[in-house]
Amino acid sequence: MTCAFDVDHYRELLEAARSGGYRFAFFDHDPQPGDLLLRHDVDLSLAAALELAEVEQALGATSTYFLMTESVFYNLASPEGEHALSRLRELGHRVGLHAVWPRAELDERFDPVVAWHNPEPEYLSEPVEGAANVMEPRFFSPETYRSDSNQHWRSGCPHEELAAGRFEWLQLLTHPEIWVHPGETMGETMAAMLDAERERRVQQLEADNIDLS
Ligand SMILES: [Zn+2]
Ligand SMILES: [Zn+2]
Repeated sequence: MTCAFDVDHYRELLEAARSGGYRFAFFDHDPQPGDLLLRHDVDLSLAAALELAEVEQALGATSTYFLMTESVFYNLASPEGEHALSRLRELGHRVGLHAVWPRAELDERFDPVVAWHNPEPEYLSEPVEGAANVMEPRFFSPETYRSDSNQHWRSGCPHEELAAGRFEWLQLLTHPEIWVHPGETMGETMAAMLDAERERRVQQLEADNIDLS
C-alpha cells in the first residue's frame, strides 16, 4: 500500500479504522477508547470538502468539518457556502467553526466546537467560552493525534496503527484540498487546486452574465 495523499488512500485509511475496530465520534464528549475523531480544517476549498464528505458518507464515516467565516478563499455566506453547510449536514457530518483568533463567534450554523486557524501556542489549548476547543487537553495528546499538515505526516501515516487498533483513540486532522487534488508535494497539489479553481471561476463568471466572448 502506498501512502499517497489521494482519495483512494483516504478510503483505505477509513477502512483501516474500521478493521481496527474504531467508531466515528464527534467532539461532543470526552474521547472514549475506540473513538476516531475525524476532523477537517477547511482552509481553502468548500468544493474539496464536499468531495471528501461524499467519500466518507459512502463508507459510513462521519466527521466534523471546520469552516471559516473569515476565509480569503471562500465565502460561507454565499450560495455556495450555504449549499456546503446544508450538504455536509445532509451527509451526516457536523460543522464546527474554523476560527481566526481572537474571534470564536458561533452562530446557528455551527455546532459548539472550535478549531483555531494557524494558532499560536499561547491560546492553542486554552478553553473557549461556550464551545469545545479541539486542541484542549481532553481531545489532544501527541499519542492520540495525527495531522497531514502541508502534505506531510509528522509521525507517519496512521493506516497501519489504525488497522492494528494501536491507538487508544485518535483525533485525525486532514485537509480536504490535499486529498482531492493530485500532486506529490504540497506545491504540486496547490497548483492543481488553482487550475481547478480557474475552471470554477470561469463558470461563476458565466453564471454572473459576464460576456466572455
Ligand atoms: Zn498510509
Ligand atoms: Zn486552518
